[in-house]
Amino acid sequence: MFKKYFIGIDIGGTKIYGGLVSPSGKIARAIKVPTPAKASAGAILAALYQVIKELLKEENVQLKNILGIGVAVPGVVDGAGKVVVTPNISLSGVDLRKILVKKYGTAAAVGNDVNFGVMGERWLGAARKANNVVGIFPGTGVGGGVIAGGRMVDGAQGAAAELGHMSVDPAGPKCTCGNTGCLEALAGRWAIERDIRAAVKDGEASLIENIAGKELRQIKSGAIKKALQAKDPLVTRVIRRSSEALGSACVSLNHIFNPEAFIFGGGLVESCGEYILPVVERALKQDPFFARLNTPRVLQAKLGDDATMLGAVAAVRQECDPRDLKDAPYYPVVRVTPSGKLSVKGRLMSGPFFIRADGKVKELGDITPSYLAERDVEELCRKGPELFIAACGAGKKTVLALKAARFLKKKKIAFKACGLKEAVRFYSISDERRVILGNF
Ligand SMILES: [Zn+2]
Repeated sequence: MFKKYFIGIDIGGTKIYGGLVSPSGKIARAIKVPTPAKASAGAILAALYQVIKELLKEENVQLKNILGIGVAVPGVVDGAGKVVVTPNISLSGVDLRKILVKKYGTAAAVGNDVNFGVMGERWLGAARKANNVVGIFPGTGVGGGVIAGGRMVDGAQGAAAELGHMSVDPAGPKCTCGNTGCLEALAGRWAIERDIRAAVKDGEASLIENIAGKELRQIKSGAIKKALQAKDPLVTRVIRRSSEALGSACVSLNHIFNPEAFIFGGGLVESCGEYILPVVERALKQDPFFARLNTPRVLQAKLGDDATMLGAVAAVRQECDPRDLKDAPYYPVVRVTPSGKLSVKGRLMSGPFFIRADGKVKELGDITPSYLAERDVEELCRKGPELFIAACGAGKKTVLALKAARFLKKKKIAFKACGLKEAVRFYSISDERRVILGNF
């Protein structure tokens, strides 16, 4: 059965990461290539086209089966998908969405990488289905993304949600952007490194010199984690201060957006989240204004390096006709009850039933679940499944007529008959289009 895919691309300062992704979010193939160094826009685009070409070739997919292409860039992108400015690579001024639509004839979406990262986490990661989310990604700098009322906040020129450059301390240190006391100037890795180096230079003893090297040329997240684990007073103090800056930023952001959740990601949080996130959580809980309201959850991002690439897919996926996404139907939750029956969406089923490949729960009518003739199988396999699971209760069996087995083989539908528990497990973990027959 031919399949439809999306392509997601994350153009970073050093790497271009591309993925061929099913409409339900499964990564069928991923490729990483270096971003051409100090290259022209033309050279970067050529690398991008090459990644797309390779993805199609490696999975033997034709362009006509691509539903859309989403591309994330490290910079400001306007609402029409034109790159306004990218400080670290030369894509500034490139009308990228228009170029992609013209070249490939598919839907396309182009946006800021951190914004797309938050969209990825909302689609498949830590903030599934949340309509109000604030994402904060402390890396070298501090990236941000905001989804409010189900929509990405991008502002008049695409420059909204640069949360790293919120001022949290007017008397604070100078930031790389030219302003003073930005969140990033307190909580970005460059700021953390700056403070650790300054204290060591002033003669404060710290384990970090042994862990990261005497010159402290680069202090990686892993080194910071080791120092925190060893309760090194200097590193603990510096991380504490940067976590408090993140906390007070979140208190303000909670007053502006009142999100369901804050999501924290990036290398520093992946390594040291257990030291940072509780400080943020406490700051939010201590806000007297919210004493009678729910405190937003503070969550660690789940998708790692895939978040942005998948978010680019999520962005272009929104523009698709829902009928084209039919290989990603909603499948109801099926469970085995202690009394050996099946429940669907929490409702106890009294007898045999089936769930069709489009996720609809159906009665069997005059079909006998223990012996399936060809026309029965045809009926059960409407809406194009790839997998047919027969869940058989104690003492039950599902047998196929010869012609029914041939029908499945011809249609390349895999067939599996097994006990309830195994069948339900199979049904639950599968990401193929599937039918489950409850025979109990
Ligand atoms: Zn700044």
